[in-house]
Amino acid sequence: MINVSHLTKKYNRFKANDNLTFTVSDGETAVLAGPNGAGKSTAIKCISGLLRFDGEIEICGYKNKSAQAKRILGYVPEIPAPYELLTVWEHMEFIARAYRLENWENRAGELMRRFELMDKRDKLGKELSKGMQQKISICCALLIEPKVVLFDEPLVGLDPHAIKELKLMFGEMKEKGTTIIISTHMLESVEDIWDRVFIMMNGRIEAERSRKQVEETGENLNELFFRITEGRTGEE
Ligand code: ADP
Repeated sequence: MINVSHLTKKYNRFKANDNLTFTVSDGETAVLAGPNGAGKSTAIKCISGLLRFDGEIEICGYKNKSAQAKRILGYVPEIPAPYELLTVWEHMEFIARAYRLENWENRAGELMRRFELMDKRDKLGKELSKGMQQKISICCALLIEPKVVLFDEPLVGLDPHAIKELKLMFGEMKEKGTTIIISTHMLESVEDIWDRVFIMMNGRIEAERSRKQVEETGENLNELFFRITEGRTGEE
């Protein structure tokens, strides 16, 4: 579970996040949508513990910057940043050691196989394409079997096979009770899996809806998005 309470993040005097309060429950998949600059990445970085902020953020009841929270939190950044001089497999090993995982090799192998990285296992981070870097980043985040995962634009740069696998993984994680936040502009790609949507504008949550609430209106996510952000429907 993620509990965000009165999150405000200022860059100098500019409020990139302005008093955000929301909860994402166990097993719930939340989509964070909003135009460029709305504050989505900033919120995700605050939740992941990378930025200082005002307010409170808890991960399964632990303060987000605590070791207990970090142990169960996975984060896939918008821009992957692999270690240039570690191989693909060494990235897995590095995470396994940092988190003191046991018997991680099979899981690492399975993640790499699903993302077609097995034949790249001895390639260095700096030798990888953007898409491959993104895949490693996802494998690193998921190797620890996180209870909470944050994905910032995870589908951008992935090939169709990887997109298919990642969508399957979203479903598998949900079944296990994992809490997921996905920031994305590709709303149709999450149409099958989302439970809750937050539409951000100008650092605030302009609208929060459950799947049931949206389904009752007959709208899809894109239509809701355009209605909230531009006051019109996606069909125009
Ligand atoms: P989104 O992810 O929704 O596109 P961001 O969270 O990246 O939005 O950015 C929100 C706002 O904060 C934007 O106006 C952006 O220019 C500003 N911003 C983001 N990072 C910084 C930074 N490091 N310093 C100053 N302003 C920033």
